[in-house]
Amino acid sequence: MSLSIETREQAIEADRNDPLASFRDRFVLPDDVIYLDGNSLGPLPRRVVDRMTATIRDEWGEGLVRSWVDADWINLPEQVGDKIARLIGAGPDEVIAADSTSVNLFKLLSAALSLRPERRVIVSQKGNFPSDLYIAQGLSDLLDRGHELRLVDNNNLIDTIDQDTAVVMLTQVDYRSGHLQDMAAITAAAHESGALIIWDLAHSAGALPIDLNGAGADFAVGCGYKFLNGGPGAPGYLYVAQRHQDAIKPILSGWMGHKDRFAFDPVYQPADGIKRQLCGTPTILSLAALDEALDVMLEADIDQLRAKSLALSRMFIDLVECNAAGHDFELASPRDDARRGSQVSFHHQHGYSIVQALIARGVIGDFRAPDILRFGMTPLYTRYVDIWDAVAALSDVMATSAWDKPEFTHRAAVT
Ligand SMILES: *Cc1c(COP(=O)(O)O)cnc(C)c1O
Repeated sequence: MSLSIETREQAIEADRNDPLASFRDRFVLPDDVIYLDGNSLGPLPRRVVDRMTATIRDEWGEGLVRSWVDADWINLPEQVGDKIARLIGAGPDEVIAADSTSVNLFKLLSAALSLRPERRVIVSQKGNFPSDLYIAQGLSDLLDRGHELRLVDNNNLIDTIDQDTAVVMLTQVDYRSGHLQDMAAITAAAHESGALIIWDLAHSAGALPIDLNGAGADFAVGCGYKFLNGGPGAPGYLYVAQRHQDAIKPILSGWMGHKDRFAFDPVYQPADGIKRQLCGTPTILSLAALDEALDVMLEADIDQLRAKSLALSRMFIDLVECNAAGHDFELASPRDDARRGSQVSFHHQHGYSIVQALIARGVIGDFRAPDILRFGMTPLYTRYVDIWDAVAALSDVMATSAWDKPEFTHRAAVT
C-alpha cells in the first residue's frame, strides 16, 4: 500500500504547509492529549473564556436585568442563528439558535407533518441517532393519527420515498459510520414525491460545506456543542426555509415566540418568521459561548476545512490498515471521500476496551455500541502529526494487548 505520509517527519512537514495551522492556538488543548472527539464535544476556544467572564461579571453582575436590552441578550438567538446560517447555506432570517437538537426536531417534525395532513409515513434511517427516532415515536403517539415510522438502510432511502411519505427525516452524516448523504439528490427525490424533508446536521455543520437553500431543503436542525465548539450543552439550532415560515403554527407556543412578548396577551399569536420557533427564555450564558466560538469557525475557509478533514481521514485509514494489520479492524466508514463525513470509524469486537486503553494514553476517541471505535477529524486544531501519534498509540495498544486489562472493560455512564 502506498501512503502519502510514511514518516513522522513527513507529518510534521504537512503541518508546516497547512493553511489552517494557526487555528490550533485559538483553542485550549491539554499538552498530553490528542483529541479525536471534537465531533462529540468540541474543545474550548480561548476567546470564549474572556467572553464568558465579561458576560457573567459585567453583563450579569453589573448590568443585571438591564442587559436584556443593554447587552442585547434578547436578540442573541437570532444573532447566533445568522452566524450558523453562513455555515449551512441558509439565509439570514432562516436560522435561530434555541433549545436542544431533540426539542427542535420535535418542533419541526410536528410542523412538517401538519403541512402534509393526508400522508402518514415518516421515512428515516435505521441507524439514525436514537433521539431522532424517539422524538418521531413520541410525537406520533401524541398526535395519535396513525403515523408510521419507516426505517431503512442509508443506501435505500430514495427508493423508499413514495406518495404516502409525509416527511423524510434524515441525519446527513451517520453518527456511527460517518456515511454522508447526498443532500441535493435526496431532497429532490422527496419533493418529487410530494414529501417534505428535515435534515439533522449534528455531524456535518462546521465540518463540511452545506447548501440547504441550494438543495431546496425545507427544514433542518443541528447541534451547538459538536463541530461548532459551543461548549457542553450548548443550544441547538433550527432552520426553516423562508417559504414555510409563516405557514407553521408552533407546537411549543411559548411567550418568546409570541408576536408581542411584553404585551402579556393571554392569547397566543405567533411572531413573524423564524422567531415564532422560540419557546422559552434563551440560555444566555450558553448562547454567548456559542456566539463567540462561531467567530473562530467563521474565520476558517470551509473548503480548506473539508480538504484537510479528508486528508487527515485518508491518512488515518491508511496508517491503521497498514500498521494495525492483522488485528481485525474493519473499516466502518465509507472509503470514498465523497460519501464520508468528518470521522473515521472501525469495527472491532473489543472496541470498548481498545478505546479505553487509548484514552489512558491520552488519545481520546469514543466508542459507539455495538462495536464501533469512532475518531472525529477536526481540522481546526488537529495536526497531521497527531494522526501519526494516535495510530502509533493504537498499534502499540494492539501489539502489547494493553487493552486486555480489567480496568478497560468496565463501561462508564458516558461512552
Ligand atoms: C448529537 C446528536 C443529537 C443530540 O441531540 P441533543 O438534543 O442535543 O442531545 C441529535 N441528533 C443527532 C443526529 C446527533 O448526532
